[in-house]
Amino acid sequence: MSGFESITDQIRPALILNSFIRKGAIPHALLFTGTEGVGKEAAAQAFAMACNCLGGTPYASSVNSPKPDLIGKPESGGPCGICGSCRKILSNSHPDIIKIKPAGPYIKISQVRELCEILAFKPYEARIRTVIISDAQTMNKAAGNALLKLLEEPPERTILILTATEKSDIIPTIASRCQQIRFNPLSEKRLAEMLIESKGIEPSEAAIFAAMANGSFTRALLLSDRSRIKKRDWLVNEIETLSLKETGKCMAFAERLSREKDDFLDSLEILNIWYRDIAISKYNPGKSIFSDISDKTKTASPGHTEKDLLSKFDLIRGARKNILANANLRLTAETLVFRLVQNQM
Ligand SMILES: [Zn+2]
Repeated sequence: MSGFESITDQIRPALILNSFIRKGAIPHALLFTGTEGVGKEAAAQAFAMACNCLGGTPYASSVNSPKPDLIGKPESGGPCGICGSCRKILSNSHPDIIKIKPAGPYIKISQVRELCEILAFKPYEARIRTVIISDAQTMNKAAGNALLKLLEEPPERTILILTATEKSDIIPTIASRCQQIRFNPLSEKRLAEMLIESKGIEPSEAAIFAAMANGSFTRALLLSDRSRIKKRDWLVNEIETLSLKETGKCMAFAERLSREKDDFLDSLEILNIWYRDIAISKYNPGKSIFSDISDKTKTASPGHTEKDLLSKFDLIRGARKNILANANLRLTAETLVFRLVQNQM
């Protein structure tokens, strides 16, 4: 996919980006918000391509002096996907398209400093140099302050695109300098189509995973992974049968949870969905994510009061925070497990 059709199921963001291109008025900074896996990075890349596409008549627009009269883009406003510039961006070899992602849990000040050094020079060949900063909420304060300086004095012919789940996760002084574009969760129908296209999954199965994915393609992909379904079944079974009296079993469960950091984070997400489903099953059972095990959810539901569930969400959030802050995994897991099973009968 090349043009804005790659911004799948996101009509409003595509229209806004399209209008920037057609007017030749490219903002200095954009903030793409929306749940993980709804296509924010893909849209940022498509926009970088559209800004630099050689397919139509070059419109030579610059951030500082838009020249709408020179716009000769195709009707769609999207990139052609086949010119030299588009191909370089698609293969990640364009010198002026810079992508920054968290190194470990954070975007570090050194990454932003390096970016500032690059941006002090003119772009090599791009009409609009594009910097894509993914998960901008992971910037620490120092990195955020360095980025703020860039936003206050934007480099010429350069656009910064930040992505994050929520605007409120971003340092307010940074967020206020970016134009926000909100991405919606993807529809179940579109998710199912994407699973069928990318993974060759049977339509009936794809529909189940799409329903479980809460609008996120990333999540749909994970769920379509059989080993993850197996892991969920194990987690749910363990957590619902453990009791405080069985200290040894609790310790063994915590040990298995904490073997590997990313796996531990994934387990927390699964547990979070499990408790969310239990909470929802009390008043809206049709909305559960793990819809394939709704009978289990129904059985577990009476054992959990609302107050108990709220404290479980807090415990999981706290454990996640600790893991991301590089706390001791084993200790985090033990504390979590003992507190989770505390009120269980
Ligand atoms: Zn092109």
